[in-house]
Formats: sequence, structure tokens, C-alpha cells
Amino acid sequence: MFKILILGGIILIVYILFFKKPKKDSKKNEELTMLECQKCGTFISDKESIKKDNKIFCSNRCAT
Ligand SMILES: [Zn+2]
Repeated sequence: MFKILILGGIILIVYILFFKKPKKDSKKNEELTMLECQKCGTFISDKESIKKDNKIFCSNRCAT
């Protein structure tokens, strides 16, 4: 019975370490690079943003 609990605990720890780490890092990066659209004021991540003439826009609709 104890062996099953220990084994289950080890699997759980390995699962958390393996899956939680990259997920946490990507979330952290997104939070650090939140940018505000110069036209409508919507906050977007750096990945989603459109940069034009040193200004940041949320979409092509705002950029044009
Ligand atoms: Zn916008």
C-alpha cells in the first residue's frame, strides 16, 4: 500500500516538474511583454502586436 502511494507521489512530482515549468515560463513572458494599442488602447502580447512607424497596434485594422 505504501509503495503505491510513494510511486504515485513520484509520478505526480515528475508530472508537475515536466509540465508546469515550460507553461509557467511562457505565461511569464506574455505578462512581461503586454503592449497597448496606440489606437484603441487594447492590451496585446508582444507576439500578437503589429509594429508600424514605431507605434504598436493590436491588429491591421488599427495599424491602417
Ligand atoms: Zn487597436
